[in-house]
Amino acid sequence: MKTTLQNCIRASRKSRAMKGLRVPKVIASEVLHWASFNFERPIIQFDRALVIFSIDIDVGEKKLGLLNKGKNDSCVHKFYEESRVGEIEEQAIPLFVDLFNSRGIPVTFAVRGQLTEIDNKTFPLLLDSPVKHDIGGHGYTHKQFTDLSRKEAEIELEMLSVGFKKYGITPKSFVFPRNMVSHIDVLEQFGYDCYRDAGTLLNDGMFIKRNGRLYDIHPSIYLNQSVHLSMLKLFLKIAIRKRTILHLWFHPWNFGENVEQVRKNIDNILVPFVDYAKNREESQMLKFETMYSAAKKADANLRVEKIQVPPQ
Ligand SMILES: [Zn+2]
Repeated sequence: MKTTLQNCIRASRKSRAMKGLRVPKVIASEVLHWASFNFERPIIQFDRALVIFSIDIDVGEKKLGLLNKGKNDSCVHKFYEESRVGEIEEQAIPLFVDLFNSRGIPVTFAVRGQLTEIDNKTFPLLLDSPVKHDIGGHGYTHKQFTDLSRKEAEIELEMLSVGFKKYGITPKSFVFPRNMVSHIDVLEQFGYDCYRDAGTLLNDGMFIKRNGRLYDIHPSIYLNQSVHLSMLKLFLKIAIRKRTILHLWFHPWNFGENVEQVRKNIDNILVPFVDYAKNREESQMLKFETMYSAAKKADANLRVEKIQVPPQ
């Protein structure tokens, strides 16, 4: 079994090795995204751009990691123990919720079902928010769906539904753990309306696509603390011009490993971006949506415009 020390050493080596590569890699990725967004033709065009944030909550709290006693670590993170991921998220989640609540922006929180097993702070925080956030599913144990049989996928989703029911939630949005997409028909069976497809440098996009009865609220770009604010603004301008979506997603731990780092990165990146976008929302150039509300809009749009949906 991995020890905390081994994990820390591996994480630190990885971090040192990546540091020199990070900046040019991020710039190259952002330029490629910018180029491909410019050339892309929206599948569904809206009356104005839709800005969507989805936040993946892999653990939620340290207690959940401790409960699993290291047996679930490999399902959650390559380098950190589940309890460490939970510890970071526990500190970071309220900061993100505060930011979005203070601006009146609804977002999708894709929450792992097993968090409902413990007396947690995340569900009450989201449910008591003055803004109605979309609380979606993110697996029960965070196992990759590509590793599961159909029966196992059904069990994961059944346990998630039962857990969410304790809070009166019927999830409609789904984010696949580790973005490994599989068993979409099982999502349909459990009443989901939308999911987020896997995002990669070559696969990211600014579109919503129908897949059977579900909508793929496609990821545009994965955010972390290295993202450049100026590029985010350029992406937003493209979405406004094309009246399509800009779907930004991240984990709470992508913005730092402790509360001070997360707060600093939120203040430097997310606050100015959100305020910039909010200003454009007031000018009717865009609307903030969740994955679920964007799926409903896409559905209404397809019905109204009677666009022929190509066979999947
Ligand atoms: Zn995840």
